[in-house]
Amino acid sequence: MRLRPEIAALTAYSQGRSPSPDGFKLSSNENPYPALPGVLEAAAAHVEINRYPDGAAVALRTRLADRYGVEFSEVIVGAGSSSLLQQLFLAAAGRGDEIVYAWRSFEAYPGFVTITGATSAHVPLTDALEHDLPALAAAVTERTRVVVVCSPNNPTGPAVSADAFEAFMRAVPAEVLVVLDEAYQEFVTDPLAVDGEKLIGEYPNLVITRTFSKAYGLAGLRVGYAIGPARLLAAARATAIPFAVTELGFAAALASLDRKPLLDERVAEIVVRRDRLRGELIEQGWAVPSAQGNFVWLPTGEHTTAAADAFFDADIAVRPFADEGIRISIGEEESIERILEVSATLHRQR
Ligand code: PMP
Repeated sequence: MRLRPEIAALTAYSQGRSPSPDGFKLSSNENPYPALPGVLEAAAAHVEINRYPDGAAVALRTRLADRYGVEFSEVIVGAGSSSLLQQLFLAAAGRGDEIVYAWRSFEAYPGFVTITGATSAHVPLTDALEHDLPALAAAVTERTRVVVVCSPNNPTGPAVSADAFEAFMRAVPAEVLVVLDEAYQEFVTDPLAVDGEKLIGEYPNLVITRTFSKAYGLAGLRVGYAIGPARLLAAARATAIPFAVTELGFAAALASLDRKPLLDERVAEIVVRRDRLRGELIEQGWAVPSAQGNFVWLPTGEHTTAAADAFFDADIAVRPFADEGIRISIGEEESIERILEVSATLHRQR
């Protein structure tokens, strides 16, 4: 049987190891809090599971359009922002084309690009593990169809600045799609950071993607959304697997939007915990880059595999990137002391 060779060489996205039931799962940038009060009930009340969900996602798209001040046709939803990223890539790029993004960044990008048939062009992060936006713009060729900017950058943490992003948008030709992946936007506290919401309608080639998985704590229900020009989003919608988002997902997302003040409180708690953890790691001697998402980056370099094992021995699952570093999600309050004990020991051993 013949397979597409580039797909046969691709491995499925993997989540890594799990801790024991008493341990801490800090490997997938999930929200440690359970669903907001009333969200599960609201979701369950709406479910007729013998019927397909609303494929046009009218209720949730209407609500998001209202929230962002855009037309219904300027927002689409998908099975997580993962699905939307892949759909956007499929809409714009294919064999012979190129998709440009910073590296290291979200691990799923290379696979999504390969699925389209296009090739990836990687632009290294700066020494501060930030996006190098001038270099990204300079990497655009006549084969480039998409540039992805991840802010805050998973797994390293920094957000791109609003000024640098606008200069970048002016430098990129208008026929190249720019996807601003803002999966962690709700956790951003840097006042100079880009906020895609403020740029809606400013650029005909800009789409922002966001998700209910992180700040909203609905990772298990798979709901994300994209905001951008209607023609582009219609093309992206056409590439979707029909009915990929469920009524349970729609109802939970809508109920979560109704509970925004409580959500903001939880986000604020995670941000305080994040900043405290980063501050203490820096005090231990680690060069932790700016952390604007719900995670911090520990630069363990060549010791990464052993360092991840040390965390695992302490029943903490983290995400190692061999020879580079470890990404630690901000989880339960009680996890912080345990992380700091392991990181202190690791730093002494260096
Ligand atoms: N973008 C980035 C940068 C991410 O880190 C993630 C999840 N880890 C996603 C998109 C996709 O998240 P989801 O599909 O759950 O919305």
